[in-house]
Amino acid sequence: MTPEPATICLGCWQQLHLPVPLRGPLSVPFRLFGIRPSRMNPNTCTICEMAFTRVMKARAVTIDATVMFADLRGYTALTQSIERQEMMSLLDTFYDDCSAAIWRYDGLLNKTLGDAVLAIFNFPVKQPDHAAQALLAARAIQRSFAEKHDQLVQAIGVKNAAIGIGIGIGIDCGQTNFGEFGHAHRDLTAIGTVVNRAARAQAAAKAGEILVTGAVRDRIGDLVSGDGSDYALKGFEQPVRLFSA
Ligand SMILES: [Zn+2]
Repeated sequence: MTPEPATICLGCWQQLHLPVPLRGPLSVPFRLFGIRPSRMNPNTCTICEMAFTRVMKARAVTIDATVMFADLRGYTALTQSIERQEMMSLLDTFYDDCSAAIWRYDGLLNKTLGDAVLAIFNFPVKQPDHAAQALLAARAIQRSFAEKHDQLVQAIGVKNAAIGIGIGIGIDCGQTNFGEFGHAHRDLTAIGTVVNRAARAQAAAKAGEILVTGAVRDRIGDLVSGDGSDYALKGFEQPVRLFSA
């Protein structure tokens, strides 16, 4: 957990024992060479983002990671009935809540996809309990959004309140392929079953709910209770057991 903005890159320090300054006067010469806080996690640097080609000398690596998807429910329906300004401030609130929580628990905010975010935990900042960190981040997102819910409903207009806004979150963990894919448009991202299962668990979650897979529960049993339920997830032949967390 990183409560304050880190002064040196957590990724470079962990992996290379190199103190790369991110903030303050010492960071100025680094910035001249394009080394600055990563947009995916401001406690890591742009070297970390490019770690595969420059440091690991591979285009993709398989890592043990936790993947979290969070999606703003009601957003698509609302885009048809609210003003652009309200829509943007709703999305800003969602993104800000997500990024603050993900970074506090050392995750990488890998992508924002319209009304959803994809976060990866255990890269580049290693966390032995990354599954727990992801769940704590997910809970922080839900808590923060719930606190603002009434205020947000007022902003979008009470007549739109029936649409219902809230966040659905899905989490899975395991071996994940992470790297740069594509030639014309290079994109740093994660692919594989863990990513797909986290995305489908997110789709199955109700507004305000966090659904985690058995793999996540096995690692953090004390944070998740109950027997879970079987869900038919798109793209998976067998039902997948998910636990409300
Ligand atoms: Zn770094």
